[in-house]
Amino acid sequence: MASTFAPIFLLLLFFTAAVAEHATKGAAFAPDEADAVISRFQEYLRIDTAHPSPDYAAAAAFLRSHAESLSLQHQTLEFVAGKPLLLLKWPGRRPSLPSILLNSHTDVVPAEPHKWVHPPFSAALAPDGNIHARGSQDMKCVGMQYLEAIRRLKADGFVPDRTIYLSFVPDEEIGGTDGAGEFAVSDTFKQLKVGVVLDEGLASPKPEYRVFYGERCPWWLMIKAQGAPGHGAKLYDGSAMENVMKSVESMRRFRAAQFDLVKTGVKAEGEVVSVNLVYLKAGTPSPTGFVMNLQPSEAEVGLDIRVPPNTDPKALERRIAEEWAPSSRNMTYEFKQKVSVFDMFGRPAITSADSSNPWWTLLEEAIKKANGKLSKPEIFPASTDARFFRELGIPAFGFSPMANTPILLHDHNEFLNKDEYLKGITIYESIIRAFSSYKDSDDESRAEL
Ligand SMILES: [Zn+2]
Repeated sequence: MASTFAPIFLLLLFFTAAVAEHATKGAAFAPDEADAVISRFQEYLRIDTAHPSPDYAAAAAFLRSHAESLSLQHQTLEFVAGKPLLLLKWPGRRPSLPSILLNSHTDVVPAEPHKWVHPPFSAALAPDGNIHARGSQDMKCVGMQYLEAIRRLKADGFVPDRTIYLSFVPDEEIGGTDGAGEFAVSDTFKQLKVGVVLDEGLASPKPEYRVFYGERCPWWLMIKAQGAPGHGAKLYDGSAMENVMKSVESMRRFRAAQFDLVKTGVKAEGEVVSVNLVYLKAGTPSPTGFVMNLQPSEAEVGLDIRVPPNTDPKALERRIAEEWAPSSRNMTYEFKQKVSVFDMFGRPAITSADSSNPWWTLLEEAIKKANGKLSKPEIFPASTDARFFRELGIPAFGFSPMANTPILLHDHNEFLNKDEYLKGITIYESIIRAFSSYKDSDDESRAEL
């Protein structure tokens, strides 16, 4: 019996393996399909959504037409007039389970066309396969890759268990308050029962993709010093300028120590507190500049500080109060912005990136199955919309599948190679499959109640 069944068994094994291969790696793109995929990406890139006057209406119309071609439900939310947020829905078989949210922003930063080889909104495809456009990395690529992955999954007959939402949000590049910020605190958002969010990451010049599980919190600090005015020739203690200089010296030492940790490879950029002086304001104006023989009675400095979410904020606040702006030196300070390092439950606003978090395990495995490699998870050095979701205690990963790509976000000549873009689509196919099929025993029992 064994001899009769062995070949059939082997054949079966072969087919199972082939199907599994297809299901996880994603089939390669036929040349026609690849051309259509790239031209849809180019079309999105050609919509000028640069600040200060992004064409949000055109972007929303474009995305709505794609939603319709994919039979996805869609609604346009406008928390602030003229700033549409497009919400798409692919209903899952088990709508009671927490859903998946794939977020991307539709706006881009401005470009200076004369410094670009190809016009920034031409989406020129160069002979080397690079697609040049503002937004090609940040982050129209990701928004379209979500849609293309869904297109392929649907063509493959895949049906998700968990509902998948896609949010195309405005204004990320100017702080996100009127976009993802409003969305995250809305009743609409509450009803989505989001279990996990994917948002943007950064390109990686190496073969490994980068992934972010938290981000530094901006603290914008303004320090004011006062002191007795005096003749420019006089040496005396406690002038406003001297008080400010002492603070700047102390900050400079702190900054150098933090930067040394990065330079020596002890810590990644997102893991240290960055402090940068962004303005100095002092002096007594004169018709030709400044009065030169007078020491002013007031001086002010502005600092952009970025705080990793696993930092002790109290210790840093103490340092500010005692060393950088001590009242004993006639100094005061106030924050122009101070984003909390904690979520609404008082926990550091980070998403676990280890085996304690099943979404992390799923993400890691899904990327591996699609032939992608991940580097060590990082704290994002600047801000993204993901923070609005982490603040609510929802796990959120920052991930843009761009390996072997120079980091050109916000830079001149931003581009993405078409093969890298196509590969990213297969990565998302794998992630969407894994996330939307995930069976969590807690969720299951909750769903039955
Ligand atoms: Zn971005």
